[in-house]
Amino acid sequence: MKKILVTGGAGFIGSHLCSRLLDEGNEVICLDNYFTGSKRNVLPLLDNPYFELVRHDVTMPYFIEVDEIYNLACPASPIHYQVNPIKTIKTSVMGAINMCGLAKRIKAKILQASTSEVYGDPQIHPQTEDYWGNVNPIGPRSCYDEGKRCAESLMMNYHLQNDVRIKIIRIFNTYGPHMNPHDGRVVSNFIVQALTGKDITVYGDGHQTRSFQYVDDLIEGMIRMMNTPDDFIGPVNVGNPNEFSMLELAQEILNITGSSSKIIHLPVQQDDPEQRQPDISLAKEKLNGWEPTIQLREGLENTVAYFEEMLRHGELK
Ligand code: NAD
Ligand code: UDP
Repeated sequence: MKKILVTGGAGFIGSHLCSRLLDEGNEVICLDNYFTGSKRNVLPLLDNPYFELVRHDVTMPYFIEVDEIYNLACPASPIHYQVNPIKTIKTSVMGAINMCGLAKRIKAKILQASTSEVYGDPQIHPQTEDYWGNVNPIGPRSCYDEGKRCAESLMMNYHLQNDVRIKIIRIFNTYGPHMNPHDGRVVSNFIVQALTGKDITVYGDGHQTRSFQYVDDLIEGMIRMMNTPDDFIGPVNVGNPNEFSMLELAQEILNITGSSSKIIHLPVQQDDPEQRQPDISLAKEKLNGWEPTIQLREGLENTVAYFEEMLRHGELK
């Protein structure tokens, strides 16, 4: 049994990760300040004697003895990370310093949840890990993108300078149950709009693309990455290369829900990347043939079922 710390563990991805790590027989300490996550996401885990939920902000140091750290704490959707951009940068940067410092002291292995946003509005397509990105350092997304880029730099330098065992994964757009219905991300927005009979809000002409990964595939990739030999540190892209336009996504959600919501167009957001698609050759090679197994239709059906349940319980406004 390993003892594992998951920062941001009460969030969308973190809650699935905690659950899976417990299922595999580990002891899990979930640390969260509940900015965008909630106790609701980990409610079914609270009775498990091997699960511990701690309210803590990663911008402050935290001391514990663990074998592994998954560092996920950070708001991930534009409307949340832009509420307090300075705090977003602090969370990524101070969070990485505090967690790497902890990993160094206790000789734990640490995995950083980085993001496809380090590629910014990419000029090569699909994105490979050796692409350095195209980020506007002073734009509205920079608090997130540059914070995550700095966190990668910190991880790398703790590794080079202090021999900390690190793993960096770059996560591409991920969706599934436990997404925050109010965080403005496209999958949750469209599903909630479809289920509540509101207009489906496509920003711009809707021809911009994203590659959507179902959360279970990501969790499998994260755990495989943590278990790779120490000399493989990444970064490695983890995402589903199947690419869809926002109009295609809207249509698929309308088909699944049978909703009669109308598609409307709103102004495009500043610095909104036009295209995004991971090259996952490295993940396939290094993560024992890992590749996504759940395609958009099936993943959306599961996600719609989750939001329908919330709607039944009066939790969707
Ligand atoms: P989320 O917002 O649901 O989860 C983030 C969690 O971190 C929340 O529970 C939040 O309360 C917590 N948190 C935020 N600031 C904190 C702080 N200062 N101290 C402690 N906890 C804090 O988002 P998510 O989608 O689950 O994302 C998890 C991680 O994965 C993030 O680091 C994000 O950048 C990364 N990621 C996600 C995606 C995606 O598509 N969901 C894509 C790329 C990268
Ligand atoms: N988007 C949209 N309508 C919405 C929310 C988002 O058309 O209600 C678009 C957004 O402009 C972007 C894409 O969907 O082009 C993905 O947005 P999201 O915030 O989910 O992820 P990110 O931009 O961080 O990849």
